[in-house]
Amino acid sequence: MNHQIDIAIIGAGPQALTLVTHLLQKKPALKNRLQVFDPSGTWMVQWRQQFAAQEIPYLRSPGVHHPDVKETLFNFADHRQEELYYPYNRPGTQLFQDFCETVVDRWKLRDQVTAAQVVQLTPLAKRFQLQLDTGEQVEARRVVLATGGGAAQVPGWTAEVNPHPPGRLCHSQDIKLPKLPDLNDETVLIIGSGQSSAHLALGAIKRGAKVLMMARRTLNEKLFDAEPGWLGPKYLKGFQAEPDWQVRWQMIQDARNGGSIAPELLTQLRRLSQSGQVTFYEQCQVSRAHWQQEAWQVQCNVAKTHDCLAHQRIKRIWLATGTTTDITAHPLMGEILERYPNQIVNGLPVLDEHLRWPGCDLFLMGPWAALHVGPVARNLHGGRMACDRIVPALTKASVARTVIHPPR
Ligand SMILES: Cc1cc2nc3c(=O)[nH]c(=O)nc-3n(C[C@H](O)[C@H](O)[C@H](O)COP(=O)(O)OP(=O)(O)OC[C@H]3O[C@@H](n4cnc5c(N)ncnc54)[C@H](O)[C@@H]3O)c2cc1C
Repeated sequence: MNHQIDIAIIGAGPQALTLVTHLLQKKPALKNRLQVFDPSGTWMVQWRQQFAAQEIPYLRSPGVHHPDVKETLFNFADHRQEELYYPYNRPGTQLFQDFCETVVDRWKLRDQVTAAQVVQLTPLAKRFQLQLDTGEQVEARRVVLATGGGAAQVPGWTAEVNPHPPGRLCHSQDIKLPKLPDLNDETVLIIGSGQSSAHLALGAIKRGAKVLMMARRTLNEKLFDAEPGWLGPKYLKGFQAEPDWQVRWQMIQDARNGGSIAPELLTQLRRLSQSGQVTFYEQCQVSRAHWQQEAWQVQCNVAKTHDCLAHQRIKRIWLATGTTTDITAHPLMGEILERYPNQIVNGLPVLDEHLRWPGCDLFLMGPWAALHVGPVARNLHGGRMACDRIVPALTKASVARTVIHPPR
């Protein structure tokens, strides 16, 4: 491992892979000047694990969205057409993963990932110091944060639940369907109204459970998590012309609308509701949960008008309530925020046009770039849009900035 590098990329998910292919396409010589860090030591482990954990058969995004810049997924899928799902040729999970393996090989990136978690990021004069969990330290001239989403978001009432056995109250990030026992005749309460709630519901039903799906809104059916207009100028033009960051933030919330479920999954669940395997509780929220006599006693906020859950013997509560996007809570951002105070809008940072943190050569991808890239920032296509902004700054001297760090 080099201890003095030019570009350090933190995270080896699909967004980082997209960045590396785009960087090398533009400037192949960068190959020896960049290093990627991920605890797994390889590419896209988190992606693979989240698809396996929720037994997701195919992607929500169309096959045109992928990390490569040279080869299309459709060429690769020439003899695997049955793994492209209607509509919009959404790739099967295995097809997409196999394709990404060819991306890694095509760009000779197998050895590019150092197996380490970055535990601290310190701005030095003209460089950054990365403290690794292996005990080693690395200095990098430029850093890209591609660490994916934030921490699990959990409802307030979870802070007040009484002691309960392990596995009885879990966030979706911690649920691994293949590792679960048979759930025969168990009642599982799933909270949330996004795609993960649907995958988990189907997984629980497959294992014999009866599922209660609770959403604080009416379940929202949408093919993609944001309208396709957000992938191009149709909506982005107005978004990027909006000078008020608070308004932009609101536009992102409105576009994602608190999560949605793809139509075919919701249809499947509605069918299962006819046989009582799933019951929907919409416009309803838990206000209190108490573990007693081997089950959860759950009260909801409309208990005064209808007592929907009190009679249920709920064995498990699963929180499909998403993740937070608060850059000030990001474990690597403490010293950056201290040295380079910046405007933050409801957790999202205001960056320059190259997604660079004002004052230093730190670039942010994924959800952290949303105020610039828009509501799909965290998705595969968002990674590509982030590259369009970051790559010129990393490859062209004319747009690279001279960093003058304030004294420590
Ligand atoms: C279940 C699920 C399904 C999804 N399906 C789709 C889909 O079909 N289409 C789509 O476009 N989007 C989808 N998304 C959204 C998004 O594309 C994925 O979350 C995607 O994984 C984001 O890529 P990423 O590279 O930003 O983050 P990740 O895939 O999360 O990768 C980030 C990597 O950074 C590493 N990391 C984090 N902190 C550190 C650190 N301190 N040091 C070193 N490494 C670190 C992590 O270990 C991880 O490997 C889905 C999301 C989920 C949760």
